[in-house]
Amino acid sequence: MSLLTRLPIRFQLILIVMLVALPAAGIIVHNGLQQRNEAVNSARRDTRKLAESIVQEQQATIASALQIMVSLSQRAEIRQKNTAGTTSILSEIHKVTPNLTNIFIADRAGLVWASAVPSKAPFVIADRRYFKNTLASGQLSSGEYIVSRATNRPSFTVGYPLKDEEGKTTGVIAVGFRLEKYAQLLMRSSLPKVAGFSLFDHQGVFLFQGIEPEKYIGKKADPRQFRELLNGPDESSVIARSIAMGDERIITTRKLRLEGEATPYMYLRVGIPVASVLVTANEQMLRNLLLFSFVLAMAVIFAGFVAERSVIARIALLKEASRNLAQGDYRTKVAALVTGSELGKLAEAFDAMAEKLTEREETLRNSEARLRVIFETSQAGIMLVEPGGTVTYANTYLTELFGCTMAELIGSAYPDHIHPSERETGVTQLRRLASGEIDSVNHERRYLRHMDNDFWGYLSGRRLDAPDGTAQGLVFIIVDITDRKNTMIELHQAREAAEIANETKSRFLMNMSHELRTPMNGVLGMIQLALFENPSEKQRECLETALDSGKGLVKILSDILDLTKAEFGTLTILNEPFDLRGAILEVVRILSLEAKLKGLALNCAIASEVPESVIGDKLRLQQVLTNLIANAIKFTVHGKVAVAVTYEQGPSCRPELVCTVTDTGIGILAGKQHLLFQPFSQVDDSLSRPYGGTGLGLVISKKIVERMGGCITFISKEGSGSIFTVTIPYASG
Ligand code: ADP
Repeated sequence: MSLLTRLPIRFQLILIVMLVALPAAGIIVHNGLQQRNEAVNSARRDTRKLAESIVQEQQATIASALQIMVSLSQRAEIRQKNTAGTTSILSEIHKVTPNLTNIFIADRAGLVWASAVPSKAPFVIADRRYFKNTLASGQLSSGEYIVSRATNRPSFTVGYPLKDEEGKTTGVIAVGFRLEKYAQLLMRSSLPKVAGFSLFDHQGVFLFQGIEPEKYIGKKADPRQFRELLNGPDESSVIARSIAMGDERIITTRKLRLEGEATPYMYLRVGIPVASVLVTANEQMLRNLLLFSFVLAMAVIFAGFVAERSVIARIALLKEASRNLAQGDYRTKVAALVTGSELGKLAEAFDAMAEKLTEREETLRNSEARLRVIFETSQAGIMLVEPGGTVTYANTYLTELFGCTMAELIGSAYPDHIHPSERETGVTQLRRLASGEIDSVNHERRYLRHMDNDFWGYLSGRRLDAPDGTAQGLVFIIVDITDRKNTMIELHQAREAAEIANETKSRFLMNMSHELRTPMNGVLGMIQLALFENPSEKQRECLETALDSGKGLVKILSDILDLTKAEFGTLTILNEPFDLRGAILEVVRILSLEAKLKGLALNCAIASEVPESVIGDKLRLQQVLTNLIANAIKFTVHGKVAVAVTYEQGPSCRPELVCTVTDTGIGILAGKQHLLFQPFSQVDDSLSRPYGGTGLGLVISKKIVERMGGCITFISKEGSGSIFTVTIPYASG
């Protein structure tokens, strides 16, 4: 069924017509076969009828001949053997009985003495069968095929005895029959022309043949055919294959007997080819089939035509709907107009497609409207550029950026809007982007505003690829960054100015600290001289305080000088052998007094592997260690300060001096640890802080150690103390 529905409608209709026509064709064939049967039966009946009429005719002929012969045998002229009188009687009778070929009378010796048909010479019939049988039987006897001696024509003769008073046979009256008459019977029958009949004598010699008699009369029948006839029943009617003709035939046979004779004297066979009988029925059936075929062909053509008309009309509707759809009219609907079959399904699919298109168009329209709003309200200039550089599309904001009208912008060359100083680079980038060498561009570019003014823009460019991979166009988005750019420039300039100012300040600071140190040393020298002049106790106290303050001031000046030197990179580091252990112990010894004053223990452990002498700057090492140990003492109230010195193999396989200064002091807040090593920064920078200092010690120490190729690290926990570690690569000297 599914296969049927997949066929085109025209074929479906034709198939239906054929299916309806099939039983009709069956009926026609069935009727035709019945007609053929009927034709055969009717032919069979006709052959029987013909055979019957021939038999009756023959029997009537025999009966009339017998009558004639009986009456002749009574005539005196014949009894007296009056040849003239008898001949006259015979010819009279012969005249009124045209069926008879001759009537003649022979004596016992067979000599014919009177004959209805005159003969030129007397003739003898002693050898004839009918003569011999009549003499022998004394009654009506049959003959066989002969050629009459009187008429010289083929004839079948019967004999009747002529008896005297005592009943003794004195002669034979013979009557010959004309056999052609049976041809008329055949003509009168309703059988077709090809029907025929044959009359045989007792030996199987053709007495007569319905078709072409002259070809057969007197000839012997096919012995097999005659044997069948001989051995067959007295009456039969069968359909059998003709031995003589070889075709299928309706064959009706009869045996004719004379009363008193043991064997039949004549055999009749009526035959007709079955094919000839069927001709009419076949023709009729053929005609019917032809007519049927014609009607069928017309029905098929009509079905095809109807199908085509209905299909064409529906296709026309679909076509019109398609055209409407192509023109953008998505309201077109055809499913209600085109129903059923594949076209109906197609129409439904068409409507569904139109529905989908409507939805999609709606979505597209909304999205386009959204994009347009974004496009037009964007604070960035957006444009589409052909790979060759021509501007094809732009938003209003871009016209403001470029300071031109939309009409001027569309169709203009993109490079013309670039500042001449950057135009060449811009053109190169456009070409690289269009050729696919690069996928996008993102950079700052200088553009022209109204051809005279200029502005800074940040350009983001992308290539739009066609399905075949070639560039369909380029999208450029330009954001005005002139303000930002100017701010950046100003910032840069400000920074440069600040750096210069800072440098000036540092230089001033350096010069100042240097210049201040000289008079301060003078002041300190004078105070020390004054102390040697036996001052009073009160004066000594004042002088010593002034000396301490002065030393503090010199320390600050030295620190500032070191810091500025470090910043300018002019910090000098010596490289000469010095007594390492002695240098460390010296620092510890000087500071142990201060520790003692605070009630703290200051331990120093120098590992045995630490060399006596190394190459380096002794004073700078002492400066760093002094700062770290002094800090440890300063920020420790209870407990101790421990200095541990080892000499280890560094990561670059260079021997390193590792000095750790551990204290049990106040420690450093985790949130403040990042401030260490920043110039002038102190964890507690309040004016009321309990610990003095400038906040320069660690910065200078770090810079010194770094200049020596080492580093300073620390770990500290508020309230638990700190550990500062200095690592300096030293070659033993
Ligand atoms: P100064 O000691 O002159 O203030 P530094 O640069 O030597 O300057 O030290 C900076 C700051 O680091 C100190 O003010 C102090 O807050 C903190 N600090 C340094 N060493 C220690 C330490 N051992 N324990 C606690 N705080 C310390």
